Amino acid sequence: MTVHGLFAAKSSAAAGLSSRPEIAIIGRGFSGIMMAIALMKSVRVSFHLTMYDPHPSISGGQALSSPQSTEILNSRVRDLSVAAGQPDDFNDWLCANGEFRAAVPAAIPGFQQIFVPKGIFSDYVHQRFSEALARRSDITVKFSHEPVHALRKLATGRFTLVRDGGTDESDVVVLATGFGVRSRNVEISDEERPVVRARRLVDPRHAVLLGSGIRVVNQLFQMRDGGYAGTITLLSRHGFLPQSHTRLSAAPSFPVDPMPSTLREIVRFVRKACADAEAKGQSWQSAMNGLRRRARSLWQALPAREKRQFNRHLRAIYDSHRNRLPAAVHARLQQELAEGRTVLRCGWAGRRVPEGLMVRWSGQPAEELLRADQVIDCRCSAPDMQAPLFQSLFVGGLAMPDELELGLAVSPTGEVLGSSGRTPNLFAIGPLGVGSLPDIDLVPEIVTQTYAAARLIAAGKRMALKAG
Ligand SMILES: Cc1cc2nc3c(=O)[nH]c(=O)nc-3n(C[C@H](O)[C@H](O)[C@H](O)COP(=O)(O)OP(=O)(O)OC[C@H]3O[C@@H](n4cnc5c(N)ncnc54)[C@H](O)[C@@H]3O)c2cc1C
Repeated sequence: MTVHGLFAAKSSAAAGLSSRPEIAIIGRGFSGIMMAIALMKSVRVSFHLTMYDPHPSISGGQALSSPQSTEILNSRVRDLSVAAGQPDDFNDWLCANGEFRAAVPAAIPGFQQIFVPKGIFSDYVHQRFSEALARRSDITVKFSHEPVHALRKLATGRFTLVRDGGTDESDVVVLATGFGVRSRNVEISDEERPVVRARRLVDPRHAVLLGSGIRVVNQLFQMRDGGYAGTITLLSRHGFLPQSHTRLSAAPSFPVDPMPSTLREIVRFVRKACADAEAKGQSWQSAMNGLRRRARSLWQALPAREKRQFNRHLRAIYDSHRNRLPAAVHARLQQELAEGRTVLRCGWAGRRVPEGLMVRWSGQPAEELLRADQVIDCRCSAPDMQAPLFQSLFVGGLAMPDELELGLAVSPTGEVLGSSGRTPNLFAIGPLGVGSLPDIDLVPEIVTQTYAAARLIAAGKRMALKAG
C-alpha cells in the first residue's frame, strides 16, 4: 500500500469532523514525518493533522528524498529506529524484508552493524508512517502543498498560519522546516552559459564542490558513478573531511568522571578519552559515541562566549568525527584524493562568475578566480532565521533565536522559547534547534525529541478535552 493512496482514502473518509483538535506540522522532511508518526502513536484523542510543504507529497526532505537513493547512510542500522523504546525496530523491519535478506545474506545475528542505502531507510520510515496512520481511523490527515510564510497567535490561543492561498487556524503548530525550502543545487549550469560552453572545447572539465561534509562525499561519488571524469575540487573553509567508522561495533563508552568546565580542558579530556579507548582495544569512535550522550549537559553548561569559540574553531573538527563514513566509502574517498583526480583545498567561496568562482585561499589576502564549469553547493547551512516565517514569530514574541543565532531557542522536548518563556502549543523539531541542542540534526536525537513533544501535546489535548 502506498502512503499517498492511503492518505487520499483516509482524508476523504473522515472529512467533516470539526470538533477535534487541529495540529499543523510545517515541513514534511524526516522531522515532519517523524513528528506525525509520534503524534499518531502518542495522542490518544482524535485530531486533525495538516502537513505543509511545497515539495510533493511525503518527499522526506533532504534526508529521505534524493536523486540518488542508493547513497549509503552514514549511521548504522542500530541507530536508525523510529520506534520509541524499540532500538531493534529497523533491524526487525530489515529481517522481515525477504528481498533485503536475499541481497544481504550475512545477517547473524542481525543487521544492526551495517550501513544501508538511503532508499531503504526511506522505505522503512514511510512504511512505519503508513502503518501508524492505518491504525488510526479516527484521525484525518491533509496535505497542503503551500509553504507557510507567517504564524500568529490569536487571542483564543489558537494560531493563524499564513500560506500562499489564504490562512488556516490550528491549536498546535510544529515547526519542522529543517534547512529550509530547497533550491536548485547547481548554481552555474554549463548548458546555459555560452562562455562555459566555449571553454569546454579547449579545457578539461573541472567541477567545484563547496563544503566538506557527508553531502560533498555523496555528490562526489554521484558524479563519478554518473561518468564524470574531470577534476573535482572540494573547497571548504577548514578542510576537515568526514572520518571513517570503525569496523568494530563502537558501542558508546566514555569516562564517568566529572567533565571539566572550560572548552580547552574539555578538548583535552575528550582527546584523552579517545586515546584511552584505543589503548584498551576499543576505538576512538566508541569514545565519540559515548561523548554524544553527555553532549547536551556539556553544551548547556558552557558560557555563550565558549560556545561561539567552539562554533568558530572546533565545530568542523567535531562534525568530521561524529558524521562518519562507512569504512568502504572512506577508503574510496582516500583513493580519489590519492589519485589526484579530486583535490581538497581550504578557502572562502566568494561570488559566482561565468568562468567559475571567486575564492580567497586560506592565508591569502585577496580573492582570485577559480575556473570551473560547474559549482555545486553541498554546504549544510544553518536554518535561515531571516525567513519570513521566523521573522513573524520574532515580531510576535512567540520565538527568539538561540544565543548563537544559529536557530530557534528550544527546549529538549521541542518547546519553542519566546520572549516570555515557553510558547504554549508551539514546537520546533530537529535542526531548527541546532544552536540550543547538540546533535539535534541527527536521526536518534530527532526521534527522541518528536516522542517527547508528542507526549506533551497528548497531555495538553487530554486536559483541553476535559476542560471543554
Ligand atoms: C544526505 C543526508 C544524509 C544523512 N544521513 C544521516 C545519517 O546517516 N544519520 C543521521 O543520523 N542523520 C543523517 N542525516 C541528517 C538528518 O537526517 C537530517 O538532519 C534531517 O534530514 C533533518 O530533516 P528535517 O526534516 O528537519 O529537514 P529537511 O530535510 O531540511 O526538511 C525540511 C522540509 O521543510 C520544508 N519547508 C521548509 N520551509 C517551509 C515552509 N516555510 N513551509 C512549508 N514547508 C517548509 C522543506 O521543503 C523540506 O521538505 C542526513 C542528512 C542528509 C541531508
